[in-house]
Amino acid sequence: MYNKSDIVAATEGDQESEPPGSETTGTVTSQTKTQANQSPPNNFSNWNDWRWQIKNRIRTVEQMAKFLPSLPDHQALKTVMARYPLAITPYYASLIQRPDTSDPIFSMCVPQVAELYNPPCLSADPLEEQEDMPVPGLVHRYPDRALLMVTTACASYCRHCTRKRVAGKRETSISPSRLEQVADYLTAHPEVSDVILSGGDPLTMSTGALEAVISRIRSIESVGVIRIGTRVPVVLPMRITDDLINMLRKYHPIWLNMHFNHPVELTKSAAEACAKLADAGIPLGNQTVLLRGVNDDPKIIEQLCRGLVRLRVRPYYLYQCDLVSGIEHFRTPLTKGIEIMEYLRGRISGIAIPNFVVDTPHGGGKIPLLPNYIISMSPTHTVLRNYEGLVVNYPEPGNLPRHNVQSGANQRQVTNGGVWELACGLASVIQPADSDHGQRRQKITEKRRVSAKTDDAFLFDL
Ligand SMILES: *Cc1c(COP(=O)(O)O)cnc(C)c1O
Ligand code: SF4
Repeated sequence: MYNKSDIVAATEGDQESEPPGSETTGTVTSQTKTQANQSPPNNFSNWNDWRWQIKNRIRTVEQMAKFLPSLPDHQALKTVMARYPLAITPYYASLIQRPDTSDPIFSMCVPQVAELYNPPCLSADPLEEQEDMPVPGLVHRYPDRALLMVTTACASYCRHCTRKRVAGKRETSISPSRLEQVADYLTAHPEVSDVILSGGDPLTMSTGALEAVISRIRSIESVGVIRIGTRVPVVLPMRITDDLINMLRKYHPIWLNMHFNHPVELTKSAAEACAKLADAGIPLGNQTVLLRGVNDDPKIIEQLCRGLVRLRVRPYYLYQCDLVSGIEHFRTPLTKGIEIMEYLRGRISGIAIPNFVVDTPHGGGKIPLLPNYIISMSPTHTVLRNYEGLVVNYPEPGNLPRHNVQSGANQRQVTNGGVWELACGLASVIQPADSDHGQRRQKITEKRRVSAKTDDAFLFDL
């Protein structure tokens, strides 16, 4: 039932129901929709009905080939899909702009033969979640929080999914008896104060079924925060209905973490979904996975993070790809994440900077990685550098300088002793020659000099 012009025409229909020119929230892309002009006029009155979107997902190679006729090797793709299921909502498919892996949306949702390639360092469950489940579906790894898989279904299946072993294998949700087992465990373990509803995607459940889970978890006194991990605002934003919002707000504190990976995903519809959630008092976070050929570029991540903050979404984690079977082609070296963190810090607001984390094999949990900001250390001083290459020392408390030197503003810059002079307190700063920061300061100093001459006191001299 799909062909490419249907999908694209559907996208046009989506836009018609919204203010023109508002497909994205201002951050995105010079790419054009090459097929847009071929679209026949159509009536897409169901487009904003999330159940219609779920019912009309692309689920077979044949359906996919109708709107992506250039797809190669259908037989091999069938082998991939027998292992890792396919589903793409018409909405998410409509964000595809080029029918190949140069397109980030295509890469994230269209199966690739590369998923069959498995070097020995990869496995189905590298985080060993299965080993940390006191009750099936409940991962209790950290002392005070636990993650509950409430469903195996997602609206669209991400090719880079870290739970490829589970997601979509059988679309099913937690049974009432399993929920009782989970509730019993949580009641017996009051140290768990934060329960993360995950899956699969919890927001693919009916509002009633989800409420049954949330209200039961909420009834456990020791549970403080309930978190929901979801990609629905990205792949099925029309699911964020008033009904859903009104249900969720009854069970505060509810926090919600989403999974935007690329600025192209920040559409008008996604922005509306985020606005509804934020207006309901739900703090919003985002967890991005670093994916080769999709978003492994500091400027794309910058654009994404700036866009998220405008939607009142806090970039929370930037994940290194897990060592999961079937996603080798998405893996980047750890150095790429470090490079991105190096680029972001100082350049954009701290509220827009996520933590780059590696979820370690053998269930070690998340470990944050950063570029090195500590240049050197001594018992009296730590030498630090900023994003521009300014090198300064931080005097440790209660320590007298080892050398008979002046302190504070009177300290001189390093002459020839290099970083050691900072580490032992002989000097306090090494400035890069031509940084923007240095030049801005020079202008201000000059201004102050002039204003002092004319007796026109500079504001901060008052
Ligand atoms: C990521 C994760 C959490 C939550 O960790 P935070 O750092 O608190 O967001 C909890 N349990 C498991 C098993 C996880 O993988
Ligand atoms: S929505 Fe989440 S659980 Fe579902 S396929 Fe994507 S990454 Fe996996």
